[in-house]
Formats: sequence, structure tokens, C-alpha cells
Amino acid sequence: MPAPERGNVVKRWGELLTEHKEDLAVLVQAEAGKITSEALGEVQEMIDICDFAVGQSRMLYGKTMPSERAGHRLMETWHPLGVVGIITAFNFPVAPYAWNTALALVCGDTVVWKPSEATVLSALGTNALLERAARECEAPNHINQVVIADRNGGQQLVDDPRVALISATGSVPMGREVGPRVAERFGRVLLELGGNNGAIVGPSADLDLTLRGVVFAAVGTAGQRCTSMRRLIVHESVVDELTEKLVEAYGTLSIGDPRNESNLVGPLMNEKSFGAMQEALREAQDQGGTVLTGGERVLAEELPEAYYVQPAIVRMPGQSDVVKKETFAPILYVMSYSEFSEAIELHNGVPQGLSSAIFTNDQLEAERFLSSSGSDCGIANVNIGTSGAEIGGAFGGEKDTGGGRESGSDSWKAYMRQATNTVNYSGELPLAQGVKFL
Ligand code: NAD
Repeated sequence: MPAPERGNVVKRWGELLTEHKEDLAVLVQAEAGKITSEALGEVQEMIDICDFAVGQSRMLYGKTMPSERAGHRLMETWHPLGVVGIITAFNFPVAPYAWNTALALVCGDTVVWKPSEATVLSALGTNALLERAARECEAPNHINQVVIADRNGGQQLVDDPRVALISATGSVPMGREVGPRVAERFGRVLLELGGNNGAIVGPSADLDLTLRGVVFAAVGTAGQRCTSMRRLIVHESVVDELTEKLVEAYGTLSIGDPRNESNLVGPLMNEKSFGAMQEALREAQDQGGTVLTGGERVLAEELPEAYYVQPAIVRMPGQSDVVKKETFAPILYVMSYSEFSEAIELHNGVPQGLSSAIFTNDQLEAERFLSSSGSDCGIANVNIGTSGAEIGGAFGGEKDTGGGRESGSDSWKAYMRQATNTVNYSGELPLAQGVKFL
């Protein structure tokens, strides 16, 4: 199928996703525990990437370069890679699959998906809609497959030489296993791993705007986003005021059944997540931190077995081991700084490098944060939180986050192989670099 026709399959998928947005969001909510607007937002992200990929299907551009030899044309062409294996995490059960799949399909690849074992229904629903789109557009059979399996099933994909690219979203330990195994067989890998996202708040920041940005990023999805804000690095002149406002705002959060539209914070994934949060809070206290609010389990009558928690704010004396770890729960560590260079050092002094932000009205400070000696993350924002990226910009991070880029800009290139073509129409055989032979 020519690329624009492949785009039609994705276009139809996007239409079906629009038609069934609420249905799919119900599955996402049931399995991942997201509040309704976030579950709908996740499906909207799938629709947005379909739109993006349809446009991309007519823009798989290759360059033409001037050849150093007369009567020669030098150019590049882009070809499908083959089979793309997609492994996804529980907390975004469907959007990262769509980021990969919409682009992989227009690039001419087929996809095999190993979703999280915790979000199987969302995966089956998503796959059923894509299958319908493919059938209606008379695409070849089985361009998309879903494999319901645990990590062992994932490893079969990882080790299979027929799978040209493994795109894996999940924790850093998962990436540490997957990366070398794919490299061992010279396969390609695209890793979207854990984050430990921080924001700097400068002395000139608009504190009301900062408050709203921080609360959404730190407690949205109950702190279970790869881009959740986990560290707040605040100038010493405003740290007390901002912290006070944050503690007050945390006190007003409604926590409970995510289907109830008045609730802003749904449950943690399971008991293990709750245990990890408690352990991190203990460690933080051992390392000199003070828990200012939160951490307690909230028992909800309608779902007594669910693990709801009061999001926590912990004042830390500075950098420490616990702050360097991603704990997949709503804990916000607050630290203070006096010099901007100190803030950058604290900010970049963690192993992960996904998302970052600065709240400031000082243009020089903002530019420094975005410069090469500022934030070392794949995403760096000004006056906006660390989470809630939109389709169109490349998504991904540096260091332990794995280096992958998805969902926008020229990330389509990850799903294709590039060939360089030299065409000689001179009738002679001049060699490059002026080499003489025969
Ligand atoms: P996880 O690492 O436990 O599992 C993710 C997926 O990998 C699952 O499908 C799992 O079955 C599979 N898996 C695990 N080990 C594997 C192995 N050795 N070989 C093949 N497959 C394997 O992660 P999780 O608990 O589901 O999700 C939370 C984590 O994911 C957090 O660290 C979060 O930051 C990260 N995450 C990152 C992004 C991103 O885009 N950077 C997005 C969402 C989640």
C-alpha cells in the first residue's frame, strides 16, 4: 500500500476512536483508575496522533544532496522497517501504543503489541477498533496483533530477530533488561522509561499560576505519570510562601472513586504502590526530610479495597538518595536554593532526564533554563508543569529515561530504515575523493 493509503487506515482508526472515545475511556478508567477527564484525555491523545500521522503519511521526505561527481545524483530514500514490537506500561494503557502504532503504520510497518498485564481490556478494545479500520480500508490482514502476556511474553518479542524495532515504555529496570537484549541481536530499540521530573521556581514567578501548574503535575493521575512532578526547587525568597499555599491546596483535594466527577485524585494502582510510597516517606524522613502533609491511606466506602492516598509534600534539606529515585506515587519533595546555578545543579543531579519546568517571569532565567547548560531533560517547559505534553512535539527523555523520542517532530524516522542512493548518469565512472583505479 502506498504511504497515503496507509494513512487512510490510520485516518479511519482516528474516526473510530472519536466515535468510541467514551467507551474506551471507560475501560482505561476501570483498569488504570484515572479520573474521567484524564481517561478521556488519554483517548484524545490517540485521536490527535492519528491526525498527525495522516499528515505525515504524505511527508516521508528524503533529501537530495549535491554530488561531488559530475553527472551523479545523491539522495536518500526511506523504507519500512518491518515488524515493530510495542511494550507498554499500566499507567498509560493506550496512548503510547497509539503514538507508536499510528506512525509505524504510515511508515509501512506492522505492529505486535504486548500491553501491561494490568490493562488488557483497554488493549483489546483499542486493537478491535484498529482491526475494524484495517478491514474497512482493505489493508492486508494482521497488520496489528496484540499479545496478552506477562514480561516473559515481552521477552519473546525482545529476543525475536524478526522484530526489527522494540519500542518499550515502562520502568528503568525494564529498560535495563530490554536495551542490551535487543542490542545483542543488533535490533533497534526505542526506550521511554521512568522520569523524576523537577521544576525550578524563581523569585519572579507568578505564585498563583505556579501553584496550579504544580498541583496538576504532582497529584494528577495520583502521581502515576512518567512526567509527574516529583521535585520542586524553589528560590529561598519564596519557598515558605509557596509551600504554605501548596499545603493549603493539598488540603482541599477531593480523593476517591475516579468515576465521581467531583474527585480529582483516584487510586494508586495497588497495595505494592502504596507500600513503595510509605517506604519512600520513611526514607525521606531518615534523610532529614519533614512530611508537611499527606501519605495516609484514604478509605473510600464504595471501594474499600482500593488504595487511595493523601498526596504528600516533603520538605527536604537538599539533595539526597530518596529524591533521586522515581517513586510511582504522589510525593513532592520541596528543596530551596539561593543561586540559579545551584538550582540547575540540584535539578540535573538525578539519574533520570524526562521532563522539567521553570516558573519565572525573568526572561534571562527562562532562556538559561532552556539553554544547553540548563535543563538536561528531553522536555523543558516555561511557566507550565512537567506533565501533559501535546502531540506534535517529540516526547522522550535523556539519561536513564532511555533516549527515545515518539509522537511528534521527526520521530517517524525511528520506524523506517534509511537508504542512500547514488545514481550515475554521466556515462563515465569517476570515483569519489578523486581515487584513480583501472
Ligand atoms: P514496568 O516496567 O513494570 O512494565 C512495563 C511493561 O514492560 C509491561 O508491559 C511489562 O510486562 C513489560 N516488561 C517488564 N519487564 C520486561 C522484560 N524484561 N522484557 C520485556 N517486557 C518487560 O512498568 P509499569 O509499572 O507498568 O509502569 C510504570 C513505569 O513506566 C514508571 O517507571 C513510568 O515512569 C514508566 N513510564 C514511562 C513512560 C514514558 O513515556 N517515558 C510512560 C509511561 C510510563
